[in-house]
Amino acid sequence: MIEVKNLYKKYNFITANNDISFKIDDGEFVVILGASGAGKSTLLNILGGIEVATSGSVLIDGEDITKYNNKKLTMYRRNIVGFVFQFYNLIPNLTALENVKLAYDLVEGGIEPVKALSLVGLEKRENNFPYELSGGEQQRVSIARAISKNPKILLCDEPTGALDYNTGKQVLKLLEKICSETKTTVILITHNQEIAKIADKIIEISDSKVKSININEKKLSVD
Ligand code: ADP
Ligand code: ADP
Repeated sequence: MIEVKNLYKKYNFITANNDISFKIDDGEFVVILGASGAGKSTLLNILGGIEVATSGSVLIDGEDITKYNNKKLTMYRRNIVGFVFQFYNLIPNLTALENVKLAYDLVEGGIEPVKALSLVGLEKRENNFPYELSGGEQQRVSIARAISKNPKILLCDEPTGALDYNTGKQVLKLLEKICSETKTTVILITHNQEIAKIADKIIEISDSKVKSININEKKLSVD
């Protein structure tokens, strides 16, 4: 269970997150929806322990990560969360397998890199470098890298933003499958209302604040 309470993030002249509160249950597929500049990435980065909140709390199973020291935060980033970014963030001079192994080696009880790559359908691309792979394949490597840590929470920042429609669909389908089959909590941010339709819960952020939180009764599967 994730519980964000009265979260603020202030930069010098900008309040990027202004009194954000919500709850997310284990295994939920949550979309954080909002226009560019609304404060979504800031929020996701705080949830992932890669940015520090100005005030408020982020409870993960009752533990407030905003109170963690650097050591505990590092363990949290390694073991509890996985990240998927818009532009994949793969290491260019490492192969697909080596990219996945880098994350896997940091944790106990992860998913073997070869297996993680086969789960995303890339068993034949293990020894290819990122520049030899299509955008969709690179994103699947980055998903394999994230799931090889067997994270409790998968944080996805516009994961289809750099992909064409059909490739984006495949990536969303994969994230949907990971969520439903492994009970991983998936939190995905997007500005695209169509993508929000696949969520269990939609948290809409506008102008740094929560505009609405809706359980998606009409949830659609990616077709
Ligand atoms: P979104 O992901 O919804 O596009 P962001 O969280 O990236 O929004 O940004 C929210 C606001 O915070 C924007 O106005 C942005 O310019 C500002 N912002 C984000 N990061 C920083 C930073 N490191 N320093 C100053 N302002 C920032
Ligand atoms: P843009 O705004 O430039 O279209 P987005 O960040 O919205 O870029 O990403 C578009 C991506 O979202 C595409 O890759 C597409 O595959 C995916 N997408 C959009 N709508 C849906 C949908 N209803 N179901 C599945 N995938 C979708």
